[in-house]
Amino acid sequence: NVGDIHAEVLVLGSGPGGYTAAFRAADLGLRAVLVEKYDSLGGVCLNVGCIPSKAMLHAAKVITEYEEMGEHGFTFVRPEVDIDGLRSWKDSVVNKLTGGLKGLAKARKVEVVTGVGKFSGPNTMSVTNDGKETTISFDQCIVAAGSEPVKLPFIPHDDPRVIDSTGALEMTDIPKRLLVLGGGIIGLEMGAVYDALGSKVTVVELMDQIIPGADKDIVKPLHNRIKGRYENIYLKTKVTAVTAEDDGLHVVFEGPDGEHVDTFDRVLVAVGRRPNGSTLGLENAGVAVDERGFIAVDNQQRTNVPHIFAIGDVVGQPMLAHKAVHEGKVAAEVCSGMKRVFDARVIPSVAYTDPEVAWVGMTEIEAKAQGIKVGKGVFPWAASGRSLSLGRSEGLTKLLFDPVDDRVIGAGIVGPNAGDLIAEVALAIEMGADAVDLGQTIHPHPTLSETVNFAAEMFEGTITDLI
Ligand code: FAD
Repeated sequence: NVGDIHAEVLVLGSGPGGYTAAFRAADLGLRAVLVEKYDSLGGVCLNVGCIPSKAMLHAAKVITEYEEMGEHGFTFVRPEVDIDGLRSWKDSVVNKLTGGLKGLAKARKVEVVTGVGKFSGPNTMSVTNDGKETTISFDQCIVAAGSEPVKLPFIPHDDPRVIDSTGALEMTDIPKRLLVLGGGIIGLEMGAVYDALGSKVTVVELMDQIIPGADKDIVKPLHNRIKGRYENIYLKTKVTAVTAEDDGLHVVFEGPDGEHVDTFDRVLVAVGRRPNGSTLGLENAGVAVDERGFIAVDNQQRTNVPHIFAIGDVVGQPMLAHKAVHEGKVAAEVCSGMKRVFDARVIPSVAYTDPEVAWVGMTEIEAKAQGIKVGKGVFPWAASGRSLSLGRSEGLTKLLFDPVDDRVIGAGIVGPNAGDLIAEVALAIEMGADAVDLGQTIHPHPTLSETVNFAAEMFEGTITDLI
């Protein structure tokens, strides 16, 4: 034990993957040390990702529901937004959770070392904080260093009017005209927040649809809804230049109709995230990192160096908190000597927009690419009593079935609370459930969960007529 501190398991990074791994390792009796460069634990997800974005999306939904219920027999005055109050509320949600993590670490005797960690050898890490260096020696290590937003070379990222998701969540003011560069989940979620707060939002996406990973039919209701609210949605369009001028950010678009230029007060760059694997001195420990910064692992989360593991965003797609958490548990349990592998059949994805878009398992795009002919059961929410009573009817629940044995292999759901509903299908896929299982399980009425039940029945042909 050559270090100032010795860890049986050293965890680098305190995001959902890292804190889960450290807590699980401690619960299994190992001396765990958690290294994090920020004072606040919780990583991207708790501090500048999942949690603050969902708090802001809730505020956005309250505002848009007010507006829309106006058509259903109410008269509302448009809510006045107090941006400072809203920001404090969002910060209070974050602080509750990150403060809670500190308490949980203490209760488990997980030692938290604050500073930037860098491997100095296969069993040592140096942690630097304000010029002070601490050396930690370890028996095993779990790398959970996460990812950061991608920057584009033709964009003046040093101009304060160019922001990433972290900047967007700081909520300093409400821009008049906001360009969201990238029509993926993060961009659309932040676009929804600023739209509700009063910004004129434009979204630009390179592909021929927003949320390119999901099936078109699942994305369409979201597209149609935001089309009516946003200034523009440009598809198959590239931004080729952004220049910072006194009157705003001049943006050059190149799309199907040629080139045009427009000026925005703010540009939110949301074109993806890149892993932090290249910044950790992993070469000093002999751990292989690919040219993009991803660390390759086996199904036990082990890197090419058997006592060093890696989890979460830094090991690959999908970059989602629940994947990081699951991998963190596997890695900690393997460290403690348990026989565990990462063997999840599916990992659900959710855009917490309004309507929410959720999918799990195989998509129709994937089935087509692989030449698999799948069975399909689709239930439009226009026939759901619960959906109509929410004042909404645009949702859709789609189930995909194995053509041979009718087992459910995928699902796409769009509509309010689709993110909660998709969990049932994830369980069904993990359990090997088939159409009869889903069709004959009694779901509570009237709920949106019935739409899963009905989609299975539509596939089976036990219901054919919609009300
Ligand atoms: P991270 O959460 O990235 O944590 C890594 C930690 O390591 C950080 O705290 C970092 O400071 C620390 N670190 C890195 N290098 C060092 C070093 N050298 N020394 C010390 N510390 C270091 N996912 C979902 O599942 N659902 C959502 O709703 C969702 N919403 C999101 C919204 C936004 C705006 C963003 C940006 C992301 C969102 N994500 C969401 C993605 C999610 O945040 C990530 O997948 C998740 O945080 C990954 O967890 P992780 O443990 O791999 O790493």
